[in-house]
Amino acid sequence: MADFLVALADFDRQRLWVELGHASVFYYLHRDLKLSKGAAHYRKVAAQLIQKFPEVVGPFREGKLCISSVVELARVITPENRAEVLPRFFYLSKQEAKTVAVEICPAAVVPRREVVTKVVSEVVAEVVTEVPRAPAFHLDETPPHASPAPAEYRHFTVPLTPTLQRLHMTVSKQFIEKLEAARKGQGHAQPGASAEKVIEAALDLLLAQQAKRRAEVKQPRIHPRPSKTGHVTAAVRREVWSRDEGKCTWPLDSGGICGSTLRLEIDHVVPRARGGPSTVDNSRLTCKFHNQLAARHVYGDDWMDRFTDGSIMTVPLTSA
Ligand SMILES: [Zn+2]
Repeated sequence: MADFLVALADFDRQRLWVELGHASVFYYLHRDLKLSKGAAHYRKVAAQLIQKFPEVVGPFREGKLCISSVVELARVITPENRAEVLPRFFYLSKQEAKTVAVEICPAAVVPRREVVTKVVSEVVAEVVTEVPRAPAFHLDETPPHASPAPAEYRHFTVPLTPTLQRLHMTVSKQFIEKLEAARKGQGHAQPGASAEKVIEAALDLLLAQQAKRRAEVKQPRIHPRPSKTGHVTAAVRREVWSRDEGKCTWPLDSGGICGSTLRLEIDHVVPRARGGPSTVDNSRLTCKFHNQLAARHVYGDDWMDRFTDGSIMTVPLTSA
């Protein structure tokens, strides 16, 4: 395992996965090496940790450091605390590593929590959204008083602080599916959005719609027209989206396609600059990474670096 991780770190450092068509080392591990997503994630984190902190290799080799605790170590280790923090993770299980990570850096490991649990009836699931706890109140301060909630809400909101409440809600399977679809759809506007953010955005839309209906505003309907500026119209966008099934179509060297559903963009097969039209046939869905990779193939690295500051080629996209 240690030898594999050292080789993987070197492979990642040279970004050799780019040449194989992948958007990150995670996809290389998952698709080409056929590792589960969890196993790929652990190995990706370990390989990146080795690049930043080469002293972890020894403990890996000696069996002091376990691959399952590496994610916790990676969360809290810094160039300043490395000497002190690393030994604290020796001989720990995943759960023990979590506890140590919390001790070292509470804020980094107490993120907002979204849990989906099954309730007694198998048909429904429960979404529990737990907001981060604010610092405890001092005794001499007035305890938090939330204004009384309307009766129908009282049974599922729990005030945590004057401004934050925890919401318990039993929802259908369809609700979870819609929530996940909406969350993915927000990839651009709200990358990594929480359930709260996505639901709030949906509520904003509903409220705006209701306000509009109340005001009986009649907007002139705008029909999509073919664009003369090379801009991809909404109609083309919709058709490409449904044809490509909302996935990145970038072909991989190992066969198949990238398939990412995150940060999707419309890519021109024949580039716009070379006269490629903004038609359905000349458009395809790609993730942001592969869209920029395609542009690099066409325009060259020097040109693209002027627009992307090169960051897309040095920062791997999230593996989630
Ligand atoms: Zn892609």
